[in-house]
Amino acid sequence: MFTSLTFILEHSNNTIKKSSLDACVVAKQIAVQNNLTFNAVLIGNTGIDIIPLNKMGIDRLFHLVPKDYVEQTPFGARNGIIKVLADKQLNLIASAHTAFNSELAGYLSIAKDADIITNCFDVHINENSISASRHVFAGRFKETLQTSKSNVILTLRATKGEIPHYENKMQYEQHIIESSAEKCKIIETKHFDKIVDIADANILIVGGKGMQSAANFNLLEELASLLNASVGASRDVVDAGWRPQYEQVGQTGKTVSPAIYVACGVSGAVQHIAGMRNSRIIIAINKDETAPIFRVAHYGIIGDAIEVLPRLIKELRNNL
Ligand SMILES: Cc1cc2nc3c(=O)[nH]c(=O)nc-3n(C[C@H](O)[C@H](O)[C@H](O)COP(=O)(O)OP(=O)(O)OC[C@H]3O[C@@H](n4cnc5c(N)ncnc54)[C@H](O)[C@@H]3O)c2cc1C
Repeated sequence: MFTSLTFILEHSNNTIKKSSLDACVVAKQIAVQNNLTFNAVLIGNTGIDIIPLNKMGIDRLFHLVPKDYVEQTPFGARNGIIKVLADKQLNLIASAHTAFNSELAGYLSIAKDADIITNCFDVHINENSISASRHVFAGRFKETLQTSKSNVILTLRATKGEIPHYENKMQYEQHIIESSAEKCKIIETKHFDKIVDIADANILIVGGKGMQSAANFNLLEELASLLNASVGASRDVVDAGWRPQYEQVGQTGKTVSPAIYVACGVSGAVQHIAGMRNSRIIIAINKDETAPIFRVAHYGIIGDAIEVLPRLIKELRNNL
């Protein structure tokens, strides 16, 4: 039924997003396991840095360059992608599970009469069907879905920051396309200097209510600046107004998969774990040794974060 898998890349500021590269690794594994040609589609100008794609095991890269470049929206991207999928007869599509790709998947699904399975992992391709699993109800359940549609779109849960090492055999094809954003376009973008999308952070330092106050997040900021990391928060912290919503990790926040996740004064409620369980190394600092966060942590420090963090910062300052 399928001979290829086509991965849609996402970028920002001329850089392919980490969340996209992480999911690309998962997509490549699916392609290898099922003997499929692995294609990728990139839509955007020629200034995008494609060097990180060299080791991703991509067989063919279709780079769609809009004639009149407009900032990328799912609406604006859809026609170019739909055309290349039709021209090249590509019927199995994957992307990272992000807000952008979830919206794009809707457009592609209508155009191709395709089924969509979102936020999935454990993808199995059989002779006449595809099955994939996903967590539901804040990770309390796993459901497995199966579709026998001939066009399928998967938004993939990212992996644990694994580093691929494929030999570069990527064939590059550039296609100039008409822009299709005339009806729906970004009319204003505000850039907040210090904001890094936590979904793209390689190291994430996350604070919970155990940090005691908004002011104590200075400790997390300090640690983050030493490690070139970003700061995240639990929902209770966001609800208390200590940190902005875009820093929230979890079921109603963002799903993250950094290489290192440091949870400081975070209890580890199921709704929180749902958004960070895929982190590669999880370190928890909590004064309660029975806190659920220790069930998913690889390393734990049982102690008062307000005392442990300054010592950790001092140690790093002396040794970095
Ligand atoms: C529908 C729904 C969706 C939700 N979505 C999310 C979500 O997306 N993200 C999310 O995070 N939550 C979410 N929640 C809330 C979630 O259930 C928890 O209430 C929340 O995660 C708890 O936040 P916390 O760990 O910061 O606070 P607490 O539960 O108050 O935990 C604080 C922890 O800090 C420890 N501690 C206290 N003082 C210190 C200290 N000095 N040093 C070290 N440790 C200390 C305590 O032992 C405790 O384990 C959701 C809830 C619902 C119902």
